[in-house]
Amino acid sequence: MAAHTDELRTRPRRWLVTGAAGFIGSNIVEALLRLDQQVVGLDNFATGHQRNIDELLAAVEPAQAARFRLIVGDIRDRETCAAACAQADIVLHQAALGSVPRSLADPATSHDVNVTGFINMLDAARRAGISRFVYAASSSTYGDEPNLPKREDRIGNPLSPYAATKLVNEIYAAVYARSYGLRATGLRYFNVFGPRQDPNGPYAAVIPKWLDALVAGEAVTINGDGETSRDFCFVANAVQANLLAALAPDEVQGEVFNVAVGDRTSLNRLFALLKAGLAEHGHERDAEPVHAEFRAGDVRHSEADITKARQLLGYDPTHDVVTGINQALPWYLSRGRA
Ligand code: NAD
Repeated sequence: MAAHTDELRTRPRRWLVTGAAGFIGSNIVEALLRLDQQVVGLDNFATGHQRNIDELLAAVEPAQAARFRLIVGDIRDRETCAAACAQADIVLHQAALGSVPRSLADPATSHDVNVTGFINMLDAARRAGISRFVYAASSSTYGDEPNLPKREDRIGNPLSPYAATKLVNEIYAAVYARSYGLRATGLRYFNVFGPRQDPNGPYAAVIPKWLDALVAGEAVTINGDGETSRDFCFVANAVQANLLAALAPDEVQGEVFNVAVGDRTSLNRLFALLKAGLAEHGHERDAEPVHAEFRAGDVRHSEADITKARQLLGYDPTHDVVTGINQALPWYLSRGRA
């Protein structure tokens, strides 16, 4: 077993996971409960679901499930943040409104949740004496920076309101580290995917959306020529990065880290991989994608340099895009259509 999971079993902690009913949050909660940790979740179900909580609790031992408590509440409310932080030693802050198009349609609400909600959580963490504050940052912060692979110390201009909110998160976290000594670490996730990522709604991410359409025999739309590329990161890698960042020594606090695989896959190749994966699971599909306009606010290519996380956190991704798809597929095939 890895040293960080050993350490947690020997000395369990009290964790607060915001966004616990969402995709990444629910996977983190499940991993923590499997390690016999005490976990409080905070979520207002804006984009998360009770079924994610039900599923993760059913996946762990009853004694582990009994160590979880959910607070249904909003990070825009300071008292809620304070009450949640009072029950934890470590915060893994995942709650936010994701999606570039959502933020372009309604920038003010993205700001309220992602910036005001974020500073509410930082402040509650500081007042509660939280020992580690790990937060979901984003690869969108690289914006128009043209160089590949993306390195943490070279960012460009944000290309969407969403990207702006995530950049502001990093600025506030750094200020809280300097001004109050809060140990806050940012994880710049690159296109995370896996079980419990919501395929529904206008702001669904590409892998769940396409899988859902392929399984239902519906058309798949590729925005642009399909040569747009992303560093698709299976959710287990993101979970690993959270635990490592939370347990990292003080010298490593206050940093931001890329969380990805360090590889990029074009949308055309992704489509082929999903079709091949479905065929392996007995769902042969004869579909061809339909190409549409490029989407506003999207960057053309994205690929992470993960050297910093490897060296300072000991991060070592367990899944690449192919093994991740393989592991995610049974979940998408079993869930049926919501
Ligand atoms: P998600 O939408 O599945 O999860 C977000 C969760 O936050 C949801 O359960 C939602 O209900 C909750 N939430 C939203 N507003 C809230 C509020 N005001 N108060 C309390 N809870 C609230 O999304 P996800 O993909 O799991 O993303 C988790 C985090 O990772 C987000 O901060 C997101 O910006 C970031 N991120 C995700 C990706 C990705 O590829 N999925 C990439 C970069 C960054």
